[in-house]
Amino acid sequence: MTGQVGERDILLIVDLQNDFCPGGGLAVPHGDEIVPLVNGLAARFAHVVLTQDWHPRGHLSFASSYPGKQPYETVDLAYGTQVLWPDHCVQGTRGAELRADLAVPHAELVLRKGYHREIDSYSAFVENDRKTATGLAGYLRERGFTRIFVAGLAFDFCVRYSAEDAHREGFKVTVVEDACRGIDVAGSMAQTRRCLAELGIPCIGAGTVG
Ligand SMILES: [Zn+2]
Repeated sequence: MTGQVGERDILLIVDLQNDFCPGGGLAVPHGDEIVPLVNGLAARFAHVVLTQDWHPRGHLSFASSYPGKQPYETVDLAYGTQVLWPDHCVQGTRGAELRADLAVPHAELVLRKGYHREIDSYSAFVENDRKTATGLAGYLRERGFTRIFVAGLAFDFCVRYSAEDAHREGFKVTVVEDACRGIDVAGSMAQTRRCLAELGIPCIGAGTVG
């Protein structure tokens, strides 16, 4: 058990957007299935933050930005290797909207990420160059939060990097694994479980929260 959810706890709901659900540009298999669980989980938290992947057209994480490249191939960008994705979560499009059935009216912040054309951002805290901060750590610290529960899409990318960076920023972190779904590119699910375990970040079920 994780104990009672309190005033210093926050639920971070990652990228529950149309494009990451079946029918979307970068569908995470069964991504839509977590919405009811996430809604129930969020109801147990006084404080919730949402993230929203939010790319300009022609973003350098899109395979379509490179002639001859296919999604899930990689390219070397200034900051290192970048997986190429199908176009997704383009600013102002329906695909970029949060799921309409996500019922979290009390969410206090919607943090957009990935808006720099040249830099992807899996993490809610630090972009993929590992230098550019989103400002979320400062926001959470200033508001006095100490423990972060993470849920959403996709488990092996944006959830993983958000959880790891939250840990590095000194927050206590727990991943609510049944309230996540993954993509699994080249063994990324197993790698995520291994990396979270190495950092001592627990993966728990939603039923044990609150
Ligand atoms: Zn993206």
